[in-house]
Amino acid sequence: MHQTDRLEVHMFPCLSDNYGFLIHDHVNNLTATIDTPEVAAIEKALNENNWSLTHIINTHHHYDHAGGNLELKNKTGCTIIGPSVDQSRIPGIDQCIKHEETFQFGEHKIKAFHTPGHTLGHMVYHFEDQSLAFVGDTLFAMGCGRLFEGTPEQMWSSLSIIKQWPDNTKLYCAHEYTQTNANFAIGIEPTNNELMDRKTLVDDLRLANTPTVPTTVELEKKTNPFLRANQEQIKTSLNMSESSDIAVFAEIRKRKDNF
Ligand SMILES: [Zn+2]
Repeated sequence: MHQTDRLEVHMFPCLSDNYGFLIHDHVNNLTATIDTPEVAAIEKALNENNWSLTHIINTHHHYDHAGGNLELKNKTGCTIIGPSVDQSRIPGIDQCIKHEETFQFGEHKIKAFHTPGHTLGHMVYHFEDQSLAFVGDTLFAMGCGRLFEGTPEQMWSSLSIIKQWPDNTKLYCAHEYTQTNANFAIGIEPTNNELMDRKTLVDDLRLANTPTVPTTVELEKKTNPFLRANQEQIKTSLNMSESSDIAVFAEIRKRKDNF
């Protein structure tokens, strides 16, 4: 693959624990920001790369994801793309995307998936050709988003969309919550050796102030308790052997809310 065929991803910290992402298509000189957590940080990242903003692609309506939309649109005239379900809550939206709709970003094909749970309109964006995806606040490394608007059933089915992508898919989540999530996950599944190993690695990375994002589908399937609510060892550890996957998922989410 030529350098120019590749979608370039530039990740940078925003606010206290958000990540910002710029994606750049070299062939058509297009640059999008995935969400707009912090205008100043996004502008700095654009300047560092000498890129001009052409698009905003929103995952959901929360202020730390869409709060910078209008300011950036006013300054750059960029096009705002977001979930059609949340049309009324995404400031300045120009192009509404539906579940399983495919659209182009320059040379790159994006497939959007509606993933209700954290919010009712949340969407994740899968770049199949590039084996990467932006998952907003639906999935975090060893965690998932809080259920502010949706039900456990909705979130479980949203997460199963991500689970079905190829193992090597890189997942760019929107917050650095990994260390807390690892500490929580160990309590849910104390006998998972891969989880133990990952926690050690994450502790080392965070000590050096190194990001733990992106993660991968494979890593999450092995260590994320929210993707593993159907696993016998988790059900046993929670004394829920007879319970449904969704009931176990709901219990894990409730425990995490109080962790
Ligand atoms: Zn959110």
